[in-house]
Amino acid sequence: MTDLPRSASVVIVGAGVVGAAIAFHLTQQGVHDVLVLERDHAGAGSTGKNAGGIRLQFSSEINVRLSLLSVPEIERFADITGVDPQFHQVGYLFLVTTDRDAVAFERSFQLWKRLEVPARRLNPDETHALLPQLNVSDVRFASFCERDGYADPSSLLRGYLTCARAAGARVVEGARVDGIEVANGSVRRVRVGGKAVVCEYVVDAAGAWAGEVAAAAGVAIPITPHRRTIFVTEAFDGLPERFPMVIDFATGFYFHRESGGVLMGMPPAQEVDGFREDVDWDVLPLVVERAMYRVPVLERARIKTGWAGLYEDTPDAHPIVGFVGQPSGFVAACGFSGHGVMHAPAIGRLIAELITGAPPSIDLAALALDRFRRGATVREHNVI
Ligand SMILES: Cc1cc2nc3c(=O)[nH]c(=O)nc-3n(C[C@H](O)[C@H](O)[C@H](O)COP(=O)(O)OP(=O)(O)OC[C@H]3O[C@@H](n4cnc5c(N)ncnc54)[C@H](O)[C@@H]3O)c2cc1C
Repeated sequence: MTDLPRSASVVIVGAGVVGAAIAFHLTQQGVHDVLVLERDHAGAGSTGKNAGGIRLQFSSEINVRLSLLSVPEIERFADITGVDPQFHQVGYLFLVTTDRDAVAFERSFQLWKRLEVPARRLNPDETHALLPQLNVSDVRFASFCERDGYADPSSLLRGYLTCARAAGARVVEGARVDGIEVANGSVRRVRVGGKAVVCEYVVDAAGAWAGEVAAAAGVAIPITPHRRTIFVTEAFDGLPERFPMVIDFATGFYFHRESGGVLMGMPPAQEVDGFREDVDWDVLPLVVERAMYRVPVLERARIKTGWAGLYEDTPDAHPIVGFVGQPSGFVAACGFSGHGVMHAPAIGRLIAELITGAPPSIDLAALALDRFRRGATVREHNVI
Protein backbone atom coordinates (compact mmCIF):
# COMPACT_ATOMS: atom_id res chain seq x y z
CA MET A 1 0.00 0.00 0.00
CA THR A 2 1.32 3.43 -0.92
CA ASP A 3 1.01 6.24 1.61
CA LEU A 4 -2.47 7.09 2.74
CA PRO A 5 -3.37 10.76 2.73
CA ARG A 6 -4.56 12.12 6.10
CA SER A 7 -7.75 13.52 4.68
CA ALA A 8 -9.98 13.62 1.63
CA SER A 9 -13.31 15.28 1.00
CA VAL A 10 -14.79 12.08 -0.44
CA VAL A 11 -13.58 8.55 0.31
CA ILE A 12 -14.88 5.90 -2.09
CA VAL A 13 -14.60 2.33 -0.78
CA GLY A 14 -13.98 -0.07 -3.69
CA ALA A 15 -12.15 0.34 -7.00
CA GLY A 16 -14.54 -1.57 -9.22
CA VAL A 17 -16.22 0.02 -12.18
CA VAL A 18 -18.79 1.74 -9.94
CA GLY A 19 -16.25 3.34 -7.60
CA ALA A 20 -14.15 4.36 -10.60
CA ALA A 21 -17.13 5.94 -12.40
CA ILE A 22 -18.02 7.88 -9.26
CA ALA A 23 -14.43 9.14 -8.88
CA PHE A 24 -14.42 10.20 -12.54
CA HIS A 25 -17.75 12.03 -12.36
CA LEU A 26 -16.84 13.77 -9.11
CA THR A 27 -13.72 15.21 -10.72
CA GLN A 28 -15.75 16.18 -13.80
CA GLN A 29 -18.16 18.04 -11.53
CA GLY A 30 -15.38 19.94 -9.75
CA VAL A 31 -14.64 17.73 -6.72
CA HIS A 32 -10.98 16.77 -6.95
CA ASP A 33 -10.19 15.84 -3.34
CA VAL A 34 -11.28 12.24 -3.91
CA LEU A 35 -9.67 9.11 -2.48
CA VAL A 36 -10.52 5.62 -3.73
CA LEU A 37 -9.55 2.85 -1.30
CA GLU A 38 -9.28 -0.70 -2.65
CA ARG A 39 -8.38 -3.65 -0.42
CA ASP A 40 -6.96 -5.68 -3.32
CA HIS A 41 -6.26 -4.30 -6.79
CA ALA A 42 -8.61 -2.26 -8.99
CA GLY A 43 -11.04 -4.61 -10.75
CA ALA A 44 -10.43 -7.49 -8.32
CA GLY A 45 -14.14 -7.81 -7.53
CA SER A 46 -17.03 -8.59 -9.88
CA THR A 47 -15.80 -5.96 -12.38
CA GLY A 48 -13.08 -8.39 -13.46
CA LYS A 49 -15.43 -11.37 -13.76
CA ASN A 50 -18.57 -10.48 -15.64
CA ALA A 51 -20.11 -10.82 -19.11
CA GLY A 52 -19.93 -7.11 -20.01
CA GLY A 53 -23.57 -6.98 -21.11
CA ILE A 54 -25.17 -3.58 -21.63
CA ARG A 55 -28.87 -3.20 -22.29
CA LEU A 56 -31.85 -0.90 -22.25
CA GLN A 57 -34.34 -3.77 -22.07
CA PHE A 58 -35.40 -3.74 -18.41
CA SER A 59 -38.95 -4.05 -17.15
CA SER A 60 -38.79 -1.39 -14.41
CA GLU A 61 -38.84 2.27 -15.39
CA ILE A 62 -35.99 3.19 -13.04
CA ASN A 63 -33.70 0.52 -14.52
CA VAL A 64 -34.52 1.67 -18.06
CA ARG A 65 -33.80 5.25 -17.04
CA LEU A 66 -30.44 4.25 -15.53
CA SER A 67 -29.56 2.49 -18.80
CA LEU A 68 -30.72 5.46 -20.89
CA LEU A 69 -28.34 7.65 -18.90
CA SER A 70 -25.49 5.13 -19.16
CA VAL A 71 -25.54 3.97 -22.77
CA PRO A 72 -24.71 7.35 -24.40
CA GLU A 73 -21.63 7.60 -22.16
CA ILE A 74 -20.49 4.11 -23.20
CA GLU A 75 -21.14 4.99 -26.86
CA ARG A 76 -18.90 8.06 -26.51
CA PHE A 77 -16.47 6.53 -23.98
CA ALA A 78 -13.41 6.55 -26.26
CA ASP A 79 -13.87 10.27 -26.99
CA ILE A 80 -14.49 11.10 -23.34
CA THR A 81 -11.68 9.08 -21.74
CA GLY A 82 -9.32 8.08 -24.57
CA VAL A 83 -9.89 4.37 -23.85
CA ASP A 84 -11.85 2.20 -26.31
CA PRO A 85 -14.42 0.22 -24.28
CA GLN A 86 -14.85 -2.28 -27.16
CA PHE A 87 -18.58 -1.75 -27.17
CA HIS A 88 -20.02 -4.32 -29.58
CA GLN A 89 -23.42 -2.77 -30.20
CA VAL A 90 -24.88 -5.95 -31.67
CA GLY A 91 -28.13 -5.90 -29.70
CA TYR A 92 -29.66 -8.14 -27.03
CA LEU A 93 -32.06 -10.79 -28.28
CA PHE A 94 -34.44 -12.10 -25.59
CA LEU A 95 -36.14 -15.36 -26.62
CA VAL A 96 -39.59 -15.60 -25.04
CA THR A 97 -41.03 -19.11 -24.71
CA THR A 98 -43.60 -19.10 -21.88
CA ASP A 99 -47.04 -17.52 -21.34
CA ARG A 100 -45.92 -15.74 -18.20
CA ASP A 101 -42.90 -14.16 -19.86
CA ALA A 102 -44.92 -13.25 -22.96
CA VAL A 103 -47.31 -11.18 -20.80
CA ALA A 104 -44.41 -9.46 -19.02
CA PHE A 105 -42.62 -8.61 -22.26
CA GLU A 106 -45.84 -7.28 -23.85
CA ARG A 107 -46.06 -4.91 -20.87
CA SER A 108 -42.42 -3.93 -21.33
CA PHE A 109 -42.99 -3.04 -25.00
CA GLN A 110 -45.47 -0.37 -23.82
CA LEU A 111 -42.93 1.01 -21.35
CA TRP A 112 -40.16 1.00 -23.96
CA LYS A 113 -42.35 2.83 -26.45
CA ARG A 114 -43.06 5.54 -23.88
CA LEU A 115 -39.36 5.86 -22.94
CA GLU A 116 -38.20 5.71 -26.60
CA VAL A 117 -36.25 2.48 -26.22
CA PRO A 118 -35.89 1.12 -29.77
CA ALA A 119 -36.76 -2.49 -28.86
CA ARG A 120 -38.89 -4.44 -31.29
CA ARG A 121 -40.90 -7.63 -31.23
CA LEU A 122 -39.70 -10.28 -33.69
CA ASN A 123 -41.74 -13.30 -34.74
CA PRO A 124 -39.98 -16.70 -34.85
CA ASP A 125 -39.10 -16.34 -38.59
CA GLU A 126 -37.58 -12.90 -38.03
CA THR A 127 -35.72 -14.24 -35.00
CA HIS A 128 -34.33 -17.13 -37.04
CA ALA A 129 -33.30 -14.73 -39.81
CA LEU A 130 -31.25 -12.74 -37.28
CA LEU A 131 -29.26 -15.83 -36.26
CA PRO A 132 -30.07 -18.88 -38.45
CA GLN A 133 -28.20 -21.24 -36.10
CA LEU A 134 -30.83 -20.71 -33.37
CA ASN A 135 -33.46 -23.34 -32.68
CA VAL A 136 -36.66 -21.25 -32.51
CA SER A 137 -39.17 -24.14 -32.52
CA ASP A 138 -40.55 -23.19 -29.09
CA VAL A 139 -40.04 -19.40 -29.37
CA ARG A 140 -43.27 -17.38 -29.23
CA PHE A 141 -41.53 -14.17 -30.06
CA ALA A 142 -38.27 -12.38 -29.34
CA SER A 143 -37.43 -8.91 -28.16
CA PHE A 144 -34.51 -7.21 -29.89
CA CYS A 145 -32.89 -3.85 -29.20
CA GLU A 146 -30.02 -2.88 -31.44
CA ARG A 147 -28.59 -0.27 -29.04
CA ASP A 148 -27.78 -3.05 -26.56
CA GLY A 149 -24.59 -5.12 -26.67
CA TYR A 150 -21.52 -5.88 -24.62
CA ALA A 151 -18.30 -4.06 -23.76
CA ASP A 152 -15.04 -4.73 -21.97
CA PRO A 153 -15.49 -3.86 -18.27
CA SER A 154 -11.72 -3.65 -17.69
CA SER A 155 -11.45 -0.94 -20.35
CA LEU A 156 -14.31 0.99 -18.75
CA LEU A 157 -12.55 0.71 -15.39
CA ARG A 158 -9.21 1.83 -16.85
CA GLY A 159 -10.75 4.77 -18.70
CA TYR A 160 -12.51 6.07 -15.61
CA LEU A 161 -9.53 5.59 -13.28
CA THR A 162 -6.99 7.11 -15.67
CA CYS A 163 -9.09 10.25 -16.13
CA ALA A 164 -9.99 10.51 -12.44
CA ARG A 165 -6.32 10.26 -11.46
CA ALA A 166 -5.30 12.83 -14.08
CA ALA A 167 -7.89 15.19 -12.55
CA GLY A 168 -6.49 14.80 -9.03
CA ALA A 169 -8.24 11.76 -7.55
CA ARG A 170 -6.01 9.36 -5.62
CA VAL A 171 -6.38 5.58 -5.79
CA VAL A 172 -4.74 3.46 -3.11
CA GLU A 173 -4.70 -0.31 -3.63
CA GLY A 174 -4.06 -2.84 -0.87
CA ALA A 175 -6.03 -0.58 1.48
CA ARG A 176 -8.82 -2.42 3.26
CA VAL A 177 -11.31 -0.19 5.05
CA ASP A 178 -11.87 -1.91 8.39
CA GLY A 179 -13.60 0.81 10.35
CA ILE A 180 -15.70 3.93 9.83
CA GLU A 181 -15.89 6.43 12.67
CA VAL A 182 -19.01 8.47 13.22
CA ALA A 183 -19.17 11.61 15.37
CA ASN A 184 -22.27 13.70 16.10
CA GLY A 185 -24.27 11.67 13.57
CA SER A 186 -21.84 12.22 10.67
CA VAL A 187 -19.08 10.12 9.14
CA ARG A 188 -15.76 11.48 10.36
CA ARG A 189 -12.91 9.05 9.51
CA VAL A 190 -12.31 5.78 7.71
CA ARG A 191 -9.82 3.37 9.19
CA VAL A 192 -7.33 1.32 7.19
CA GLY A 193 -5.22 -0.90 9.40
CA GLY A 194 -3.97 1.35 12.15
CA LYS A 195 -4.32 4.53 10.05
CA ALA A 196 -7.18 6.96 9.63
CA VAL A 197 -8.36 9.29 6.87
CA VAL A 198 -10.56 12.25 7.85
CA CYS A 199 -13.39 12.81 5.38
CA GLU A 200 -16.79 14.45 4.81
CA TYR A 201 -18.34 11.70 2.72
CA VAL A 202 -17.90 7.92 2.51
CA VAL A 203 -19.26 6.24 -0.63
CA ASP A 204 -19.87 2.51 -0.27
CA ALA A 205 -19.01 1.04 -3.69
CA ALA A 206 -17.76 -2.27 -2.30
CA GLY A 207 -19.90 -4.51 -4.54
CA ALA A 208 -20.85 -7.84 -2.96
CA TRP A 209 -19.00 -6.76 0.20
CA ALA A 210 -20.91 -3.48 0.55
CA GLY A 211 -22.95 -4.84 3.47
CA GLU A 212 -19.78 -5.36 5.50
CA VAL A 213 -18.55 -1.83 4.77
CA ALA A 214 -21.93 -0.34 5.68
CA ALA A 215 -21.99 -2.34 8.93
CA ALA A 216 -18.72 -0.63 9.92
CA ALA A 217 -20.69 2.64 9.92
CA GLY A 218 -23.63 1.06 11.75
CA VAL A 219 -25.77 0.87 8.60
CA ALA A 220 -27.69 -2.29 7.65
CA ILE A 221 -27.72 -2.82 3.88
CA PRO A 222 -29.47 -5.93 2.54
CA ILE A 223 -27.07 -7.38 -0.02
CA THR A 224 -26.68 -11.12 -0.55
CA PRO A 225 -23.76 -12.48 -2.61
CA HIS A 226 -24.63 -15.14 -5.19
CA ARG A 227 -22.08 -17.00 -7.28
CA ARG A 228 -22.33 -16.90 -11.08
CA THR A 229 -20.11 -18.93 -13.40
CA ILE A 230 -19.07 -18.12 -16.99
CA PHE A 231 -17.61 -20.56 -19.54
CA VAL A 232 -15.74 -19.62 -22.72
CA THR A 233 -15.27 -21.99 -25.65
CA GLU A 234 -12.36 -22.46 -28.01
CA ALA A 235 -12.74 -20.83 -31.45
CA PHE A 236 -14.93 -22.93 -33.76
CA ASP A 237 -16.75 -22.63 -37.11
CA GLY A 238 -20.47 -22.46 -37.56
CA LEU A 239 -21.56 -19.08 -36.20
CA PRO A 240 -21.33 -15.69 -37.91
CA GLU A 241 -18.62 -13.33 -36.66
CA ARG A 242 -21.22 -10.81 -35.46
CA PHE A 243 -24.45 -11.74 -33.71
CA PRO A 244 -26.46 -10.41 -30.74
CA MET A 245 -26.15 -11.29 -27.09
CA VAL A 246 -28.80 -14.03 -26.92
CA ILE A 247 -30.85 -14.70 -23.79
CA ASP A 248 -32.92 -17.87 -23.49
CA PHE A 249 -35.14 -16.06 -21.03
CA ALA A 250 -36.98 -18.94 -19.34
CA THR A 251 -33.73 -20.65 -18.30
CA GLY A 252 -31.40 -17.65 -18.06
CA PHE A 253 -28.93 -19.27 -20.49
CA TYR A 254 -27.05 -16.54 -22.41
CA PHE A 255 -24.17 -16.35 -24.86
CA HIS A 256 -22.22 -13.86 -26.93
CA ARG A 257 -19.19 -13.85 -29.21
CA GLU A 258 -15.79 -14.05 -27.54
CA SER A 259 -12.49 -14.38 -29.42
CA GLY A 260 -13.76 -16.66 -32.20
CA GLY A 261 -15.71 -18.80 -29.70
CA VAL A 262 -18.56 -17.91 -27.38
CA LEU A 263 -18.89 -16.78 -23.78
CA MET A 264 -21.88 -18.34 -22.04
CA GLY A 265 -23.46 -18.63 -18.64
CA MET A 266 -26.56 -19.56 -16.72
CA PRO A 267 -27.77 -19.31 -13.12
CA PRO A 268 -27.30 -22.41 -10.93
CA ALA A 269 -30.24 -24.77 -10.41
CA GLN A 270 -30.23 -23.89 -6.71
CA GLU A 271 -29.26 -20.43 -5.46
CA VAL A 272 -26.75 -20.60 -2.57
CA ASP A 273 -25.93 -17.47 -0.55
CA GLY A 274 -22.23 -16.85 0.07
CA PHE A 275 -18.89 -15.47 -1.08
CA ARG A 276 -17.53 -18.58 -2.88
CA GLU A 277 -15.86 -17.61 -6.15
CA ASP A 278 -14.50 -20.92 -7.42
CA VAL A 279 -16.04 -22.26 -10.64
CA ASP A 280 -19.37 -23.96 -10.00
CA TRP A 281 -18.91 -27.10 -12.11
CA ASP A 282 -22.47 -28.21 -11.35
CA VAL A 283 -23.60 -25.48 -13.74
CA LEU A 284 -21.64 -26.86 -16.70
CA PRO A 285 -24.01 -29.76 -17.57
CA LEU A 286 -26.97 -27.36 -17.42
CA VAL A 287 -25.20 -24.91 -19.74
CA VAL A 288 -24.15 -27.66 -22.18
CA GLU A 289 -27.65 -29.17 -22.29
CA ARG A 290 -29.25 -25.79 -22.93
CA ALA A 291 -26.60 -24.74 -25.43
CA MET A 292 -27.06 -27.91 -27.53
CA TYR A 293 -30.82 -27.42 -27.59
CA ARG A 294 -30.83 -23.72 -28.39
CA VAL A 295 -27.78 -23.50 -30.69
CA PRO A 296 -27.04 -27.02 -31.98
CA VAL A 297 -23.77 -25.94 -33.68
CA LEU A 298 -22.35 -25.39 -30.20
CA GLU A 299 -21.89 -29.16 -30.19
CA ARG A 300 -18.65 -28.44 -32.11
CA ALA A 301 -17.32 -26.14 -29.41
CA ARG A 302 -14.95 -27.18 -26.62
CA ILE A 303 -14.81 -25.40 -23.30
CA LYS A 304 -11.54 -23.46 -23.04
CA THR A 305 -11.91 -21.80 -19.66
CA GLY A 306 -14.33 -20.77 -16.96
CA TRP A 307 -14.44 -18.48 -13.98
CA ALA A 308 -16.90 -17.32 -11.33
CA GLY A 309 -17.77 -14.06 -9.63
CA LEU A 310 -20.47 -12.62 -7.42
CA TYR A 311 -23.83 -11.01 -8.07
CA GLU A 312 -24.63 -8.52 -5.31
CA ASP A 313 -28.35 -9.13 -4.96
CA THR A 314 -30.85 -6.96 -3.10
CA PRO A 315 -34.34 -8.23 -2.17
CA ASP A 316 -35.93 -6.47 -5.17
CA ALA A 317 -32.99 -6.80 -7.63
CA HIS A 318 -32.54 -3.03 -7.79
CA PRO A 319 -29.52 -1.10 -6.54
CA ILE A 320 -29.36 0.94 -3.37
CA VAL A 321 -28.25 4.45 -4.26
CA GLY A 322 -28.01 7.67 -2.29
CA PHE A 323 -27.59 9.08 1.22
CA VAL A 324 -28.74 6.54 3.77
CA GLY A 325 -29.99 9.04 6.37
CA GLN A 326 -27.89 8.20 9.42
CA PRO A 327 -24.95 8.70 9.66
CA SER A 328 -25.02 11.72 7.41
CA GLY A 329 -22.33 11.73 4.75
CA PHE A 330 -22.63 7.96 4.19
CA VAL A 331 -23.64 7.24 0.58
CA ALA A 332 -24.68 3.86 -0.81
CA ALA A 333 -23.78 2.91 -4.40
CA CYS A 334 -24.23 -0.83 -4.32
CA GLY A 335 -26.58 -3.79 -4.74
CA PHE A 336 -26.55 -3.78 -8.54
CA SER A 337 -27.90 -7.33 -8.65
CA GLY A 338 -25.87 -8.29 -11.71
CA HIS A 339 -26.20 -4.99 -13.63
CA GLY A 340 -23.42 -2.86 -12.19
CA VAL A 341 -21.28 -2.53 -15.30
CA MET A 342 -24.05 -1.20 -17.48
CA HIS A 343 -25.33 1.15 -14.79
CA ALA A 344 -21.94 2.44 -13.60
CA PRO A 345 -21.90 5.51 -15.89
CA ALA A 346 -25.31 6.64 -14.61
CA ILE A 347 -24.44 5.93 -10.99
CA GLY A 348 -21.16 7.85 -11.31
CA ARG A 349 -23.02 10.91 -12.55
CA LEU A 350 -25.87 10.62 -10.03
CA ILE A 351 -23.62 10.22 -6.97
CA ALA A 352 -21.51 13.17 -8.09
CA GLU A 353 -24.70 15.24 -8.44
CA LEU A 354 -25.81 14.18 -4.95
CA ILE A 355 -22.52 15.17 -3.37
CA THR A 356 -22.21 18.49 -5.20
CA GLY A 357 -25.88 19.33 -4.71
CA ALA A 358 -26.48 19.61 -8.47
CA PRO A 359 -30.00 18.86 -9.77
CA PRO A 360 -30.30 15.08 -10.23
CA SER A 361 -30.41 13.70 -13.78
CA ILE A 362 -32.86 11.06 -12.49
CA ASP A 363 -35.09 11.02 -9.41
CA LEU A 364 -33.41 8.46 -7.14
CA ALA A 365 -36.29 8.08 -4.67
CA ALA A 366 -37.12 4.56 -5.94
CA LEU A 367 -33.59 3.38 -5.06
CA ALA A 368 -33.42 4.73 -1.49
CA LEU A 369 -32.34 2.31 1.24
CA ASP A 370 -35.47 2.98 3.29
CA ARG A 371 -37.72 1.49 0.57
CA PHE A 372 -37.25 -1.90 2.25
CA ARG A 373 -38.45 -0.57 5.59
CA ARG A 374 -41.35 1.27 3.95
CA GLY A 375 -42.33 -1.76 1.87
CA ALA A 376 -41.93 0.37 -1.27
CA THR A 377 -39.78 -2.02 -3.27
CA VAL A 378 -39.59 -2.03 -7.08
CA ARG A 379 -39.92 -5.10 -9.29
CA GLU A 380 -37.67 -6.17 -12.16
CA HIS A 381 -38.72 -9.08 -14.34
CA ASN A 382 -35.72 -9.16 -16.69
CA VAL A 383 -33.11 -10.58 -14.32
CA ILE A 384 -30.76 -13.22 -15.66
C1 LIG B 1 -20.62 -13.92 -13.90
C2 LIG B 1 -21.13 -12.50 -13.83
C3 LIG B 1 -21.70 -11.92 -14.96
C4 LIG B 1 -22.14 -10.59 -14.92
N1 LIG B 1 -22.60 -10.03 -16.06
C5 LIG B 1 -22.91 -8.70 -16.07
C6 LIG B 1 -23.30 -8.07 -17.27
O1 LIG B 1 -23.38 -8.71 -18.33
N2 LIG B 1 -23.57 -6.74 -17.23
C7 LIG B 1 -23.49 -6.01 -16.07
O2 LIG B 1 -23.76 -4.81 -16.09
N3 LIG B 1 -23.12 -6.60 -14.92
C8 LIG B 1 -22.82 -7.92 -14.89
N4 LIG B 1 -22.45 -8.51 -13.73
C9 LIG B 1 -22.46 -7.73 -12.49
C10 LIG B 1 -21.29 -6.79 -12.41
O3 LIG B 1 -20.08 -7.51 -12.55
C11 LIG B 1 -21.33 -6.05 -11.08
O4 LIG B 1 -22.63 -5.54 -10.84
C12 LIG B 1 -20.34 -4.90 -11.09
O5 LIG B 1 -19.05 -5.35 -11.41
C13 LIG B 1 -20.33 -4.21 -9.75
O6 LIG B 1 -19.25 -3.30 -9.74
P1 LIG B 1 -18.80 -2.66 -8.39
O7 LIG B 1 -17.72 -1.69 -8.72
O8 LIG B 1 -19.99 -2.19 -7.64
O9 LIG B 1 -18.26 -3.91 -7.54
P2 LIG B 1 -16.88 -4.72 -7.64
O10 LIG B 1 -16.35 -4.76 -9.01
O11 LIG B 1 -17.11 -6.01 -6.95
O12 LIG B 1 -15.89 -3.82 -6.81
C14 LIG B 1 -15.99 -3.70 -5.40
C15 LIG B 1 -14.58 -3.55 -4.89
O13 LIG B 1 -14.62 -3.26 -3.50
C16 LIG B 1 -13.47 -3.84 -2.92
N5 LIG B 1 -13.71 -3.93 -1.48
C17 LIG B 1 -14.57 -4.74 -0.82
N6 LIG B 1 -14.50 -4.53 0.51
C18 LIG B 1 -13.59 -3.55 0.70
C19 LIG B 1 -13.07 -2.90 1.85
N7 LIG B 1 -13.49 -3.20 3.08
N8 LIG B 1 -12.12 -1.94 1.69
C20 LIG B 1 -11.67 -1.62 0.45
N9 LIG B 1 -12.12 -2.22 -0.68
C21 LIG B 1 -13.07 -3.16 -0.56
C22 LIG B 1 -13.36 -5.19 -3.62
O14 LIG B 1 -12.06 -5.73 -3.52
C23 LIG B 1 -13.75 -4.83 -5.04
O15 LIG B 1 -12.63 -4.56 -5.86
C24 LIG B 1 -22.03 -9.84 -13.71
C25 LIG B 1 -21.46 -10.43 -12.59
C26 LIG B 1 -21.00 -11.74 -12.63
C27 LIG B 1 -20.39 -12.34 -11.41
